[in-house]
Amino acid sequence: MTLPPFALHRPRSVPEAEELLARYGDDAALYCGGTELLLVMKLGLASYPNLVDLKGIPELHVLEEREGELRVGAAVTHHQLECSPLVRRLVPPLAEMERRVANVRVRSVGTLGGNLCFSDPHSDPATFLLASGAELVCRRGSAERTISIGEFVRGPYETALEPKELLTEIRIPALPAGTALAHEKFSMHERPALTVSCFMRAEDSRVAEARIAVGSVSAIPARVLDAESALVGLSPRSDAERLETAGEIAADAVSPFADLNGSVEYKRNLVRVFVSRCCATAMERVFPA
Ligand SMILES: Cc1cc2nc3c(=O)[nH]c(=O)nc-3n(C[C@H](O)[C@H](O)[C@H](O)COP(=O)(O)OP(=O)(O)OC[C@H]3O[C@@H](n4cnc5c(N)ncnc54)[C@H](O)[C@@H]3O)c2cc1C
Repeated sequence: MTLPPFALHRPRSVPEAEELLARYGDDAALYCGGTELLLVMKLGLASYPNLVDLKGIPELHVLEEREGELRVGAAVTHHQLECSPLVRRLVPPLAEMERRVANVRVRSVGTLGGNLCFSDPHSDPATFLLASGAELVCRRGSAERTISIGEFVRGPYETALEPKELLTEIRIPALPAGTALAHEKFSMHERPALTVSCFMRAEDSRVAEARIAVGSVSAIPARVLDAESALVGLSPRSDAERLETAGEIAADAVSPFADLNGSVEYKRNLVRVFVSRCCATAMERVFPA
């Protein structure tokens, strides 16, 4: 596995990166940590004579709190998110989830933006961000648009990014008191075979709102609306069977594909177990003892 030769370009701004993409067209590709792109090139699945390295663009390294959101530049690495005191204060389960992505080598260079733009179906962040209600900022020229993560992820290795458009920022709502998030994964190989995230908001000691996202078993992560409805109205005294019901509903609702991680039936079983487990963790967090 050797890399084909390429010229490396290091823009210092988003317009400079766009200018390089316009100049080289299909002969250029963006990259950030390179953990996906360079692997694809080493395997001979793609070849680009020009690589545009986004790491030198300061605005893609933003990590700040603004308007009740955590704002994460696309070039922020998994490791930075795992260790950031700001992340741990505003969205602690994000740091927890990031700590379990890949291995320390991949986390230290791989970025949140690269993970989402590559759109591997076996993504922890895509599932987590769907449950958390995150939005993504995409830019081409002076045109900037903000879309939900659900709109962004179109399919395996396919996103809503237009040609020459960059993902610049990920906006994640901070978790105020009375809300909770939990994330679960199951892996047999390097990448997860299943990812589940659950968001809950409590009001008057009852679950007032819930979002459950299931990913990595099918083409794209998806919300399971009927399972979410089964959680609304639960209180700390509710029977644990109600959480198992949510798991069963989710297992029926998802459309898994069979692959090296297991059969359709096996994956439905994983979804059943992990959805109820993830919802139980979210319940414990939203109604602390
Ligand atoms: C061994 C291994 C284990 C892994 N395990 C997990 C796991 O457990 N969970 C999980 O979720 N992921 C896992 N991953 C995936 C990992 O998270 C990604 O490889 C990493 O986040 C990609 O980021 P990057 O910056 O290296 O992407 P790059 O390789 O630099 O880029 C990936 C793609 O995104 C495009 N791109 C990058 N940034 C932008 C941008 N700002 N705008 C537009 N396009 C852009 C590039 O053109 C390229 O096509 C694993 C990967 C490996 C190699």
